[in-house]
Amino acid sequence: MRPSPSMQLALKSLRLSGIADSLEVRLEQAREGNLGYLEFLEIIFQDEVERRLAQSVQRRLKQADFQEYKALEEFDFTAVPGINPKAIKDLGTCLFIERKEHVILYGPPGTGKTHLAQALGNRACRSNYTVLFTTAIKLFRKLTASRVEGAYEDVMRTLLKPHLLIIDDLGLIGFTQEQTEAFYEIVAERHHRGSIIITSNRPPGDWPGLFPDQVLANSLMDRLAHKAHHLPLKGESYRKRGRPQQ
Ligand code: ADP
Ligand code: MG
Repeated sequence: MRPSPSMQLALKSLRLSGIADSLEVRLEQAREGNLGYLEFLEIIFQDEVERRLAQSVQRRLKQADFQEYKALEEFDFTAVPGINPKAIKDLGTCLFIERKEHVILYGPPGTGKTHLAQALGNRACRSNYTVLFTTAIKLFRKLTASRVEGAYEDVMRTLLKPHLLIIDDLGLIGFTQEQTEAFYEIVAERHHRGSIIITSNRPPGDWPGLFPDQVLANSLMDRLAHKAHHLPLKGESYRKRGRPQQ
């Protein structure tokens, strides 16, 4: 049984696209399965709820601007010696975001830092949190350009707003004074607002040496590293393995 054109129009104007898409099938099921009125209503409302949830997850994934789609389920914990899978899986519950805690993933290239950061971001999007992924180089380039364009505050706002900010590859090169100040502002302003995940090829203990201003560096490290989950990744680069067959 097809929904009538006026019914379709009504669903469209009410923006109930989840119901519009499933109604034909649900009507068929109702006829075959003797669904009660209330049961039928419940099912089609549930269709709408599910459609909206799926759409909002897709929207958040898009806004997060990940480089690649990575999931925790695809991560091979046996490839990383010394890592505690439980610690990562606990982070996957996103409780750290609720608590506004940070995560620092560090280790040599190819050990899965960016993978894990994006996989945690992915979980966050699915758990109703807003996320922004950026590399450190891109972040500082954008902030520098925004100063020239008079848009510094706007760019800063986009970095402070999401529940979770992911900064990939921090500390590949040292910071300028201007970058140190901007980074300090991000960390200080996000302190009570949201979480940060940082990936780096250097252990946090080495970071103070990357900043020209030791007073700011100490204050920054105090706010950042001391309330973060530290996850050192070790081992061979996963990139060397090539793609698994199958
Ligand atoms: P890093 O950021 O530490 O340099 P990446 O996260 O970019 O490393 O990992 C390099 C590639 O290897 C990516 O495609 C990533 O998905 C994959 N990879 C790395 N470690 C693992 C792992 N333990 N299990 C599955 N894939 C992995
Ligand atoms: Mg990386």
